[in-house]
Amino acid sequence: MRGARFPIAAILVSGAVATASFLISLPSSYEHGAETAANDVAYAPGSGLTPPSITESESVTVGASASAAIIPNAIDAPIEKTPAPPYERTLTIGKGDTLMAMLTDAGIKRGDAYEAITALSKIYSPRRLLPGQEVTLTFHPDPEGKEDDRFAALTLATAVDREVHVTETDKGAFKANEIEKPLLRSVHRNQGDIQSSLYVAAMRANLPEAVLMELIRAYSWDVDFQRDIQPGDAFEVMYERLDTEEGELARYGDVLYAALTLSGKHYPIYLHTTRDGTTDYFDDKGRSAKKALMRTPINGAKLSSRYGKRMHPILGYTKMHKGVDFAAPPGTPILAAGDGVIDHAGTNGAYGKYVRIRHNAEYSTAYAHMKGYARGINRGTRVRQGQVIGYVGSTGRSTGPHLHYEILRNGRQTNPLNVKMPSGVQLKGTDMARFETTRREMEQQFSALESGLAVAENEAQR
Ligand SMILES: [Zn+2]
Repeated sequence: MRGARFPIAAILVSGAVATASFLISLPSSYEHGAETAANDVAYAPGSGLTPPSITESESVTVGASASAAIIPNAIDAPIEKTPAPPYERTLTIGKGDTLMAMLTDAGIKRGDAYEAITALSKIYSPRRLLPGQEVTLTFHPDPEGKEDDRFAALTLATAVDREVHVTETDKGAFKANEIEKPLLRSVHRNQGDIQSSLYVAAMRANLPEAVLMELIRAYSWDVDFQRDIQPGDAFEVMYERLDTEEGELARYGDVLYAALTLSGKHYPIYLHTTRDGTTDYFDDKGRSAKKALMRTPINGAKLSSRYGKRMHPILGYTKMHKGVDFAAPPGTPILAAGDGVIDHAGTNGAYGKYVRIRHNAEYSTAYAHMKGYARGINRGTRVRQGQVIGYVGSTGRSTGPHLHYEILRNGRQTNPLNVKMPSGVQLKGTDMARFETTRREMEQQFSALESGLAVAENEAQR
């Protein structure tokens, strides 16, 4: 299914050449079932993707090629019968517009507009359309020039690498297909010295933020990015980037390799798939980088209050502080410290807006004073390590925006900074031998990328 891919211009032109009535027939392998499509259009909010637009050059190409292709037919047919080529109109969705109103305003019969929208809805809900998004309509002029031009197709880019085509299959009947554009994968290298924080260093080195987030997640079980980073530390990373054929960024792929140098020690990690099909990060000794729980389930936050006895800032007397506080701007994403199931998501007295995740029989984690919950975070929801569960706020008994974080062991709070985390997998035997190959290949690839980038970086630093 995913193998069959055609650029939009090619499809429209071949449709025009094949039949004057502009019936587009697609190979059956080309059609995308509605069930598959629903899963495919899984762009998470916050992924940084904006709905792309259909480029003008495509519309131009279609019109020009189509009319050129029609010319040979004109020799056999009387000139007045020459069908005019189909043409396109691109509409931009404005605030408060409905697709129905836009289509009927464009002169499409209500019945046709309804059928086209119904077909579209099987793959992509029109309610997801955003202002600024473009819809391209294809019309076929009436050969006699008596009736209105016939509406034949609707095209909509649903993501930078995806389009939905709604085409007329029969008079008044429409079918939707989703087309996934091929993406080009490239591997990139980035590195930098850390002066104050990894975030600042990464931004100075132009590391994409999505890649930085992935890097932080990969290390979150071992590195406390507040306490462990010292001036003179360094990072290096090799990651994938996926572009459309037009050279537009679709998204960043995996971090393949990374290394942190902390207080002179080198900590590399490698993305590796074991024989049982699990893909994870492993250190140079073949130990899984994944630990049970993250000590710091938030990025770029300052540890503002430790676990233990303290003078309570609001109550004014000494009280046990049964968690750690991270000061962060309101709205900063809070991450699930480990895989688990939400067992509380709601207000909880002095804790304010509060989420608790049960990770296993032994461990739970709790997050308090939230501003709000991430979408879909309810009691019973399964969450993955590093998934955003909510946002920093100051609800409940709180003096200012911060995350109050607790690790509960057998129902009792423990000090998140001291709790001994169970470590992950240790590769052995054949798995270890396969990992050694992965590791060598990645190190070679990383070195091979060095020369080109080193020049650019030196220039940037001067
Ligand atoms: Zn606290």
